[in-house]
Amino acid sequence: MGKIRVYTLRAPYHAQPLNTGICRVVGVFLLFFFIPLSFPGLTHGFSSKAPKEAYEKRRYDMVAMQLAARGIKDEAVLRAMRRVPRHLFVPEGSKGTAYGDFPLSIGYGQTISQPYIVAFMTELLQPGKDHIALEVGTGSGYQAAVLGEIVQEVFTIEIIPPLGRAAERRLNELGYENITVKVADGYYGWEEHAPFDCIVVTAASDHIPPPLVQQLKKGGKMAIPVGQPFRVQNLMAIEKSVDGEIKTRNVLPVRFVPFRRTWK
Ligand code: SAH
Repeated sequence: MGKIRVYTLRAPYHAQPLNTGICRVVGVFLLFFFIPLSFPGLTHGFSSKAPKEAYEKRRYDMVAMQLAARGIKDEAVLRAMRRVPRHLFVPEGSKGTAYGDFPLSIGYGQTISQPYIVAFMTELLQPGKDHIALEVGTGSGYQAAVLGEIVQEVFTIEIIPPLGRAAERRLNELGYENITVKVADGYYGWEEHAPFDCIVVTAASDHIPPPLVQQLKKGGKMAIPVGQPFRVQNLMAIEKSVDGEIKTRNVLPVRFVPFRRTWK
């Protein structure tokens, strides 16, 4: 079962690796023939009223089959993804599919990324427990919570006010005292808390915002999707060396919602 590449199935939303046609065909085959056998709840109306333990079981399965089986190795990342209750970050009607291998709509035209992408980006940052992290694009607050499980402190910025406020409320209710949300244009970063050991941007920009590079600590790491809106973008890994030199590399083709400069 560990070999099922169901993330090859859906390309319509952002935040998933893109694949060749053949992968997709194989993926569709696997989805229809195997997934109903292994995740009966996922495809047959897993109730949003299911007990906490049922969600936990799905979370563990998600980590084993979608993350560990696809090469996510960082134990801290795997542990965090086992802990954060993703179903509490999605709209009520999507709870039953919260642990599926795809992004989900969170309103205002935005999405919570596919679990694999969240894990992949988090692993790229090599987050440590004494780190200070910045996220641009709070959305539901899920990526912030995953980081919050690992690092000392997370600052996260969302440009759409109702999304930012809802995420802040949710993170408070869940007891994430080390996460601070701000509603603003994240292009400028968050100067007063800089420099950051890790920076993750979860919306696709046509260039890397210079203030973010400037606010990255020496030795720090950043993950950002770069490219045109509604096209294939490159997930870029950026490192600032101890002497301040910037190195960038493309690590994965992805599709994210656009980085924007105003709310409406
Ligand atoms: N990380 C989120 C996924 C967010 S989708 C999660 O885990 O749920 C990308 C988010 O980036 C959207 O909510 C969008 O409104 C936000 N965004 C886009 N441009 C932004 C900007 N300039 N500053 C801050 N947030 C931005």
